[in-house]
Amino acid sequence: MSALLEVRNVTKRFGGLTAVNDLSFDVSEGEVLALLGPNGSGKTTMMNMISGALKSSSGDINLAGAPITGLPPHRIAAKGVARTFQLVKILPSLDVRENVVAALAFRHDALWGKTAQDEADRLLAHAGLESRGSEMVENLTYIDQKRVELARALAAQPRLLLLDEWLAGLNPTELHIGIELIAMLRKSGMTILLVEHVMEAVRALCSRCVVMNAGSKIADGETHAVLADPEVIRAYLGE
Ligand code: ADP
Repeated sequence: MSALLEVRNVTKRFGGLTAVNDLSFDVSEGEVLALLGPNGSGKTTMMNMISGALKSSSGDINLAGAPITGLPPHRIAAKGVARTFQLVKILPSLDVRENVVAALAFRHDALWGKTAQDEADRLLAHAGLESRGSEMVENLTYIDQKRVELARALAAQPRLLLLDEWLAGLNPTELHIGIELIAMLRKSGMTILLVEHVMEAVRALCSRCVVMNAGSKIADGETHAVLADPEVIRAYLGE
């Protein structure tokens, strides 16, 4: 598999604090990779540099071989990086279909009218919301709102999907639905980088993990080996 995302020696300093320290890793085409680490280890900062919300202090980030380092978020989004946030960023005053149609209007080949409606329905069916397009988003359960969020992210036809604690706050039943949704995306060939605290999800979805501690990479490899690594266990236990 070739690398879709290459992170090369990326460092981010906030004043005297080095939040990400000389970090390098790859995400291969079609891979679901977890970026792990205890709170404050630099995961969100790294995700923000990939999506362009933050500029790195040094280092290179490449998407499909082309540099995206330091580009503004809309340029990086246009190159195929989509992101969901910890908080559900949907438009509560619109119905389900309109939420997806709004996202389709921002696509590089901006879809409008009937074409957009049909594509929105296709994406909603994909996310498990078949024939629910006319429901108001604010009346949906949390997991169904997450489905809308996912359909909106997919509307951009991303090459790389960034999921930042997407499963946080779900109850056990919803968690299984959430894991199934990501598994379905993986099966469709989507490349995904996720930050996730739910280890059950990491074990179920990710063949490989990168682990950070205090800004630096401490492990990178197959999930079962990484999660059994004494240094990783120590970092999580805060010893
Ligand atoms: P994680 O996502 O792993 O919990 P973060 O990337 O949020 O870690 O934070 C890494 C470190 O950088 C922490 O020490 C945090 O306090 C610091 N940090 C994050 N964002 C900022 C910021 N905008 N300004 C200053 N310090 C920050």
